[in-house]
Amino acid sequence: MVAALPSGAGSESALMARYTDPVCRLCRREGMKLFLKGSRCYTKKCAFERRSTPPGMNTMRRRKVSEFGIQLREKQRVRRSYSVMERQFRNYFRAAEQTKGMTGENLLRLLEMRLDSVVYRMGLASSRAQARQLVGHGHIAVNGRATDIPSFGTKIGDRIEVRESRRGREIFAGAAERMRTAQVPEWISIEPVRLAASVIAEPSRQQMPLEFNEQLVVEYYSR
Ligand code: SF4
Repeated sequence: MVAALPSGAGSESALMARYTDPVCRLCRREGMKLFLKGSRCYTKKCAFERRSTPPGMNTMRRRKVSEFGIQLREKQRVRRSYSVMERQFRNYFRAAEQTKGMTGENLLRLLEMRLDSVVYRMGLASSRAQARQLVGHGHIAVNGRATDIPSFGTKIGDRIEVRESRRGREIFAGAAERMRTAQVPEWISIEPVRLAASVIAEPSRQQMPLEFNEQLVVEYYSR
């Protein structure tokens, strides 16, 4: 079982300082698709598909990257994929350290089980950014209670659903079908008809993004 975050660690107050530059630059910066723009990320319009070099960098003059640079890039990749600010990300790391098991894996699990991430994984939103918006606008309930905190940490047994009073909204037109066709991980059980899902397990390492090398993140914070 993952540890609960220290009080206030999951606060969204850091949203005030959220990154506001074009997000596609982040994918080029990190050298991988971070899927921050929803359905556009799966089309030929994806900026990374057209140009994958880091912004502002002359590819002919790439410098050798230090060990620290590699660790830093991996930390930034993970952090930016989940759109978490630095201080909050560090708090997740500290909580992961205090949890039994592999710290890097614990860190990914805490991030995957955030409410906005679960809303994204269950197929209700096409990106974590959209999922964060759905939660922030009060459309989502956890165990029958309206919850508008994107960083809310879900746990086994939690039921996440679109609030009954909001289901008729235009934003949820076709949502059931989108859930049916989404690649929902096995640790989430969905009920498309009710625009709901339950967390039935904690995600295993194999069920979390395999493109991340979480050990590099651990090394970054262990310097
Ligand atoms: Fe990244 Fe999506 Fe932009 Fe492609 S479209 S560069 S995956 S945010």
